Amino acid sequence: MEKIFSRTKGLTSLPFHYCPGCTHGIIHRLIGEVLEELDIIGDTIGVAPVGCAGFSLDFFSCDFVGAAHGRAQAVATGMKRALPEKLVFTYQGDGDICAIGTSHAIHTAARAEKITSIMVNNAIFGMTGGQMAPTTLAGQITATSPYGRNCQLAGNPIDLPKIIATLDGAVYVAAVSVDSPQQIIAAKKAIKKGFQVQQAGLGFAFISILSTCPTNWGLSPVESLKWLRQNMLPLYQMGELKATKEVSAL
Ligand code: SF4
Repeated sequence: MEKIFSRTKGLTSLPFHYCPGCTHGIIHRLIGEVLEELDIIGDTIGVAPVGCAGFSLDFFSCDFVGAAHGRAQAVATGMKRALPEKLVFTYQGDGDICAIGTSHAIHTAARAEKITSIMVNNAIFGMTGGQMAPTTLAGQITATSPYGRNCQLAGNPIDLPKIIATLDGAVYVAAVSVDSPQQIIAAKKAIKKGFQVQQAGLGFAFISILSTCPTNWGLSPVESLKWLRQNMLPLYQMGELKATKEVSAL
């Protein structure tokens, strides 16, 4: 019998140890497929910081480096400058890149570093127990906002892709989700484009992916997907936020 589906070579054989229903697994699969399709597994270096995203070190078949909290893009910048022939990407959670890592995100884009950054946004600090993140929605209950995020006290959610898109060095910025088959297809296209932008040496590419955290949201996996759809999709600007002429011509 012909085998028509198998695990992508872009992932190791290690089973994911993310919480049940967590969509990190889907995003890993998409990145692994892109690595395989572009035939760059042996030419790629991933960088992941602290947080649930940090677990990704074990799961991709390419080389991977761990960075301090918020510093993945600084490490990736050094990697890419020292090894320009490599494809270098960061895999970071929103609690990492939108909080302690914000300055790196802004300056990496401003400097037009030729790397690709992937942000997994689940509107919360996942690994440390579900604390409020800069991306937490107004009124959202978290471990540190038990009565819901009060924007008068804690500020408003940060929509990082919108900020990055305003910077000249960012040539490709996309915001996607993985809550439905259609969105998953769009997410894979965005990841692939983000890697191709780097292969073409065009500048900084940034992809934000809305994701779930059933454990800290206190919802089932299915309820989590509905919650994302009902609450996160209307808040965060979605789609291709920026693609320069050169990127569109790829
Ligand atoms: S804590 Fe949240 S983000 Fe982390 S693995 Fe569990 S469900 Fe996923």
